[in-house]
Amino acid sequence: MKTARIPAVGKEFPIGKILCIGRNYVDHIKELGNETPAAPVIFMKPATSVIGDGDEIVIPPYSKNCHHEAELALLIGTGGKDIPVDQALSHLAGYGVAIDLTLRDVQDELKKKGLPWEIAKGFDTACPLSDFVPAGMVDNPQQLQIRLTVNGDLRQDGSTSLMIHSVTRIVSHISTIFTLEPGDIILTGTPAGVGPLVPGDLVYAEISGVGALKVTVK
Ligand code: MG
Repeated sequence: MKTARIPAVGKEFPIGKILCIGRNYVDHIKELGNETPAAPVIFMKPATSVIGDGDEIVIPPYSKNCHHEAELALLIGTGGKDIPVDQALSHLAGYGVAIDLTLRDVQDELKKKGLPWEIAKGFDTACPLSDFVPAGMVDNPQQLQIRLTVNGDLRQDGSTSLMIHSVTRIVSHISTIFTLEPGDIILTGTPAGVGPLVPGDLVYAEISGVGALKVTVK
């Protein structure tokens, strides 16, 4: 079973649902030519897609274009339904670094046909995830710098201040649709700079004050 760890307080949660927000940064919406959604775009990854620091990404044979998307991850510590915005932060156990791996060629085909994205977003190894820091150690989740390098080259460098839907609004909105439980994880969208990974790449994602994650591509 995959677990989410908060080493600073010795806590560990079996991972439940992984809910992901798409199109949450204007500059990333523009680079893919998408429309800005009125409500957050939501999709899911299964817990089996999670890998940890030092692990290896395996790009499925049905894709020729796997993109990296560095994202702030939220770990739910206290469950709830219809969580008010002003109580959202109290439901978080920790913050972490995730990479929402996306098979862009497969996703583009699915989008055209109006089909669901799971095989482009939820395959094994599609969710590299760091350990979490206790939520109380992050003063303001909307003032964090997200960076991702591939083989040392800076590809993504954005601030969570540029989110369209804030962390508290995301938690509140998602909880109106899905009951949140301890161990659920929310990925909050990626800033601009997404791009392809190829075998042998070394990928390093980092969020200021939260942590870092290093993975390689098989
Ligand atoms: Mg994403």
